This record gives sequence, structure tokens and C-alpha cells, in this order.
Amino acid sequence: MFSGESFRRSASASRGLFHVKHYDVIVVGGGHAGVEAALAAARKGAATALVTFRLDDLGVMSCNPAIGGIGKGHLVREIDALDGMMGLAADYAGIQYRLLNRSRGPAVQGPRVQADRRRYATFVRRYCQAQPGLSLLTGEVVDLRLGDDGRVSGVVLADGSEISARSVVLTTGTFLGGEIHIGSERISAGRRGADAALRLGLRLRERAETVGRLKTGTPARLNGRTIDWGMVGRQEGDADPVMMSFLNTAPEARQVYCGVTSTNERTHDIIRQNLHLSAMRSGNITGIGPRYCPSVEDKITRFSDKDSHNIFLEPEGLDDDTVYPNGISTSLPQGVQQNFLRTIKGLEEVEILHFGYAIEYDYLDPRGLTQGLEMRALPGLFLAGQINGTTGYEEAAAQGLLAGANAAAQALGSEPLRLSRYDSYIGVMIDDLTTRGVSEPYRMFTSRAEHRLSLRADNADQRLGPLGIRLGLVGAARRAALEGKQARLSELSTAMRSVKARPADFEAFGLPVPRDGQRRSFYDLVGQLSDAESRAQDIADRFQPSRAADALQVAIEAFYAPYVERQTREAAQLKREQATEIPEGFDFAAIASLSRELRAKLSQVRPRSIGAASEIEGMTPAALLVILAYLKIAGQAARAAGS
Ligand code: FAD
Repeated sequence: MFSGESFRRSASASRGLFHVKHYDVIVVGGGHAGVEAALAAARKGAATALVTFRLDDLGVMSCNPAIGGIGKGHLVREIDALDGMMGLAADYAGIQYRLLNRSRGPAVQGPRVQADRRRYATFVRRYCQAQPGLSLLTGEVVDLRLGDDGRVSGVVLADGSEISARSVVLTTGTFLGGEIHIGSERISAGRRGADAALRLGLRLRERAETVGRLKTGTPARLNGRTIDWGMVGRQEGDADPVMMSFLNTAPEARQVYCGVTSTNERTHDIIRQNLHLSAMRSGNITGIGPRYCPSVEDKITRFSDKDSHNIFLEPEGLDDDTVYPNGISTSLPQGVQQNFLRTIKGLEEVEILHFGYAIEYDYLDPRGLTQGLEMRALPGLFLAGQINGTTGYEEAAAQGLLAGANAAAQALGSEPLRLSRYDSYIGVMIDDLTTRGVSEPYRMFTSRAEHRLSLRADNADQRLGPLGIRLGLVGAARRAALEGKQARLSELSTAMRSVKARPADFEAFGLPVPRDGQRRSFYDLVGQLSDAESRAQDIADRFQPSRAADALQVAIEAFYAPYVERQTREAAQLKREQATEIPEGFDFAAIASLSRELRAKLSQVRPRSIGAASEIEGMTPAALLVILAYLKIAGQAARAAGS
């Protein structure tokens, strides 16, 4: 992938230099991947430097002011379990908490928080400044140093100075060859108000065979004082907020509500009439955008039957009038943006603080990385975040933590951090990226995880905490909290199994059970109630009102135990069926229960075995089981026709 020789050889490059600073690990970039990478490396005891353009880069949210959500909330909890910072920062900055999919049960629930941008960035900066072993440096990295052994041995800054290290983590986000588009206007930038990393981008382009372009977009930012809040709906946060970090129990900041409004026929008419002026659609951008975060231009063309799309008006902070209109990212010219925004209820007089834009940037094919996120072709160089073709703060932070831990492990000669599809969503993402690559910006969904009944957000600390402790990633405070919790859960679980009650006793509690005269434990009861998943809280409250949070955790475990067993069986079945052949001409399009997207991909790729089908980007275990079932039916039909 890389012809590494052409990066500067450290010996010759440093000749004549007065002093080259040395670290175990250098992290390039202070975004979400960069800070978690640097913190993880420093927690492991590596002397670490984080180099970024400006200190103000730390904790910047380029797009929406929110952390978590479906799938993404799982990643935040896993980062937290490994003593990362994201959940703590989100709780410090949280101004509206919502547990998404609340009615659908813990496995697919996604904790999400809307964050005060400034509070988030302040927390991140202070946290990084307080981390022992971490130096924060400012500068533009323009090149990599290469040692005589062919390994990356440091970085070169724009002023010609060099810093050496045993390993380097690149987390340059949307900055490599970044270009902003608003209508026909094109500006070289990493995001609004920040220079692109052009020189490093060019160096990587010169050397890498597999650099691609991706794109993403953001909406205009509005002056909240010019919104008619009386004319829009109101979305409150949860009455019982669920924290992002396992270490927190209640929000730190005042909670606010969001406005809800929507586009209408007039909005759509204006957008439709000006579609040819949109940068996203004019042909100026070649990169592929995130399918699940479409621009408003894409929405009205892809879903032309809909005459309205929801817009959430999210305040960007407690002491900030800026409002983020979630749902209408756009790259239309400024005049058109203003016109369409003012057709929307509540926004008739709105003032635009910053216009929306699209951004196109370079990414490197993640299939060139190991499971530790190290480049195979350039040992000592680790990549994390948007540079690997992902989108989202949480995806970036999770990769950052893994890459930083592994860069430190390599520098210090200690055990690396390896996560798999069986133990974590982070493992699912790393496996997807490194084996399947990306054809569009990759974001996390619960459907990507075959073991999602066991990989829940609520148990991330129990799943990953012990590993984090063993690898020296988890500090003393978190370790004490986890060990205390494990002891309490184990004691409660024993009690929940051993204390038995009669059906009449349960009925008195409002928990209906069959009137069979049998005494049963609370633990057994959870397995027998058809609605136990949604009643886990009730059961926990009845069993141990004074320790309801812990009791809820045990009740959730009890509820999922049989499903987890089934899941393990299905996973084993899929493993066995890898070699099962798919006949030529098999009609994938006829499998109605598969998503349209998967049917299209299968029909195009035409895999000849279940193993080959499992390699397709976006393929899920559930979909593979459906294909297997169809294969069986098709086989039976063919045999019947032949007999
Ligand atoms: P970034 O947060 O981009 O951080 C990169 C860091 O590297 C910056 O601190 C930068 O200063 C530094 N840097 C870069 N090059 C150099 C260099 N050569 N030397 C020194 N420092 C350097 N995500 C979503 O999930 N949904 C969305 O709708 C969405 N929309 C977006 C819209 C826009 C316009 C943008 C810009 C991003 C959007 N994102 C969205 C993506 C989200 O912002 C990123 O996924 C996330 O920030 C990636 O984190 P990162 O750490 O990889 O990179």
C-alpha cells in the first residue's frame, strides 16, 4: 500500500538538527479519535505527545452537538468501560438526555445526550491537560519520519522541526485534502474556520495506493433569538435521565428542551428548483456521502412521496443562542438556504449565523490495517477515526482508544488490545473496517452486531472492564467502582435465585404469574413473564427497592440469558455453514424479508457461498440466516421437482 522509502528517513532528516524531541507515542490530531488515542496511550504509561493545529481543536464537534444514539451509545459505554473520556465529557456537557428505543428493550436502547458545545470542549481540554504523561503540542504535521528499519519513527512539522517516537497515530479526520462546498463555491478547509491538512494529505496521496474521497455535510446554524419558539413543537428530555458514563448518576448541567418543526411543500419546491446549484448534486463532489445522514436535497429526491421532513431545533449550549437544525444538512448556495429556511414554521424571520456546507476529504482504505489499526505496509503507523472511512464522533473515539492503546503497547513492548465481534461493538467495527472496507462513510448500527443481546450498553463495563484492568488501561478509581459493582451484582443475583415466593405473593406485587401453586424465584420469574423485558424495572423495584439500579441489572441479565444462549447457537451455526454453496442464478431479489439495500448488493456481488455473502459490507447475521432458510426451501423445491 505504501512505498515507505520516500517518507523521510529519520537518520538523514535529523542530521544537522540541534535537538529532536522524543516520545513513546505521537498522536496527530486533537479530534475525538486523537484525544482518546492520546489519553489511552498515556494511561498505559507511554510518554505521549498530541500534536494538533490549535489547542482549541480539543473536543470540537464539527457537526451536531450530541453524543451517543442507537449503536453509537454502545460505543460510548465501551469507551467508558475502558476508562476513556467521552462519556464523562458528555455527562459534564449534557443538556438533554434521551434513551432512544426505550420501549424496545435494553439490547437495542441507545443512550444519547445533547451537549453544550463549549462545556464539552472545556472538559476535554482540562481532562487532557490533567492527564499525567501527556504533552499537548501545537503545529501542523506535514510528513512522517521513517527509520532505517522501515518503521515510522516520528513526524515532521511545518516549521521543519521533527519529533521522534516509537509509534505514531494519525487521526486527521476530515482535514486530509479537505474541501468545503457551498453551491459552486469551493474552499480548502478541514471544517468551517480551519485550514485543511494539504501537505500531509499530498504526502499520503503520493505514497498510498488506496486513498479515496468521501463527503459529508452540515446544516446552517441559526440564531435562536430569531426563532418563533411559540410556533414550533417541544421535545423534552427524559424525566429519569440515563447517564453516558458508568461513573455518573445525575446530570451536571441544567436541562433544556428542543424545538420540533418540519419542512413543507414550499420548502421542497424551492429546493427542487435549485437542485442543480447544490454542490452535493452538481457533480463538483466525487466522494460518496453517508446514506443514513442524507442532505435535505437527497431527502426530497430520494423520498419524493413525502411532503414533509422533521427538523429538531437543538440549542448548542446554555449560554449560546446558536441553534442546530438537525435534519437539513445542505450544500445549496447561501441565498437558496436562506429562502428555504424561511418557509419553515417558526423560522419565518430566522437569521443565519453560519451557512450549511458539504465537505469532501481523503480517507485511506482500512483493509490495509491490522486488527490493532496499524498499517501493515508501514509498521509503527496507526490510523484512527474519519481517516479510516468512518463517520461520527463515537466511531472515531472508539478507534482512537484502540489505536492509542496499541501504539503504546508496541512502544512499551506490552500486550496489545484486541477486541472481537464477540466481546464488543468496537470489535465489530474494527472487524468490519479491516476485513470489508468501506464504500460509504461507515457508522455504527446495532444490526451490525451478531451478538447484540449480550453486547448491551448496560453491561459494557462488565464485559470490557476486566480486560482494561489487565492491560493497564483502567485507572484506580474506575477499577474500584467496577469491582464494587461486580460484588454487589453477584450477591444480588444469588439472592434473586434463592428467595422464592408463591404466585399469590407475586400477584400482590402486581407481577402476574401462572396460578400453579409453584414457588419460584424472582430470577425464574423474569424468564417466565412475556413482558419481562419492559417490566425489568418493576421487578427490580419490587425485589430490592433500595438497590433498584443493581437489581435492574440482574433482572436484565436474567431476561437475556436464554436469548444469549440461542444467539451463541446461531453464531455457531453460521460458522459451520460458511462453506454452504449458493447456486448460480439464485434469486436474491426475491427474498422480501431482506432490506432493499442488501438485496441490491447481493444481486450485484452474487456470492457463491454463505462465507462470501458474509463478507459483503452491511451484511448481518440475521440476514445470513434468512438466506440459509431460503436456500433450504429452494433446495427442497428443486428436489421435489426432480423426484
Ligand atoms: P476530527 O474531529 O475531524 O479531528 C481531526 C483533528 O486533526 C483536528 O483536531 C485537526 O486540527 C487535526 N489535524 C488534522 N490534520 C492535522 C495535521 N496535519 N497536523 C496537526 N493536526 C491535524 N458525523 C456524524 O456522525 N454525523 C454527521 O452528520 C456529521 N456531519 C459532519 C459534517 C461536517 C461538515 C464535518 C466536518 C464532519 C461531520 N461529521 C459527522 C463527522 C464528525 O465530525 C467526525 O466523524 C468526527 O469529528 C471525526 O473525528 P476525528 O477525530 O476522526 O477527526
